[in-house]
Amino acid sequence: KNLNVNTISTEQSKENFVLVIIEDLTDQVQLQNVKKDFFSYAGHELKTPITVLRGYAELIQHEIITGSEAKEVSTKMVELADYMKGFVDDMLMLSRLETFVDGPIETIDLKKMLLDTLDYYHRSIQEKSIKVELNVDDISFEGDKIDITKLFKNMIENAIKYNKEQGTIKIDLKRNLNQIVFVIEDTGLGIPFKDQDRVFERFYRVNEVRKEPGTGLGLAIVKHIVNKYHGHISVESVENEFTKFTIVI
Ligand code: ADP
Repeated sequence: KNLNVNTISTEQSKENFVLVIIEDLTDQVQLQNVKKDFFSYAGHELKTPITVLRGYAELIQHEIITGSEAKEVSTKMVELADYMKGFVDDMLMLSRLETFVDGPIETIDLKKMLLDTLDYYHRSIQEKSIKVELNVDDISFEGDKIDITKLFKNMIENAIKYNKEQGTIKIDLKRNLNQIVFVIEDTGLGIPFKDQDRVFERFYRVNEVRKEPGTGLGLAIVKHIVNKYHGHISVESVENEFTKFTIVI
């Protein structure tokens, strides 16, 4: 425990009074540590690609590489810039959620938004020859469009990214009394049991050696969004078989 102790003593008539104020600072200290870790982690995550990007730019600037080689390197530079942009966007989204900055509440056609998001990813779905099975109701929902788009995007992106070639993604979106239930299941790498609770923590990535790019912020953002709408997210998974996320709002 981190305690702050203050004593004040007074002398009144014949008796001594001592007032002891003990303040528990554990939460504040923990919060400071989380912030310190967050900044050092985020700084490191950005420093590496910036250094690599600068190295590539110098190779081109000094004409150490030219022609098709330079073209190849510039493609890598675009990928690095995209990664950094995604990382910064995710950090801004998290900070927006943590500081309770809300956009306007609008009526959202969830089915349309889901289909638009799938359309946005159609190239990566095709590239991996993934089959998508949909069981989606017409549902309208009062919410912030930025939140719901981000929720669908992050869940679908993971289901593609961690899926196998020729795998399947099954999506159910149903209204059940006054609850909305969204289930997304893929036939991919799966998540080891010991990691299943931790995947919602920011920057947590299962087995860093996996080659898929990512920031480790996607599910932390989804969990924040789900909490904002007083909902609940859970995961079930068997390694190399399936991963199934259920969101109830
Ligand atoms: P990112 O995908 O950027 O690493 P996320 O927060 O979205 O970050 O996910 C955290 C981790 O959870 C991922 O690194 C991955 O190991 C695991 N994960 C998330 N979704 C899936 C999924 N559908 N199948 C297997 N593993 C997953």
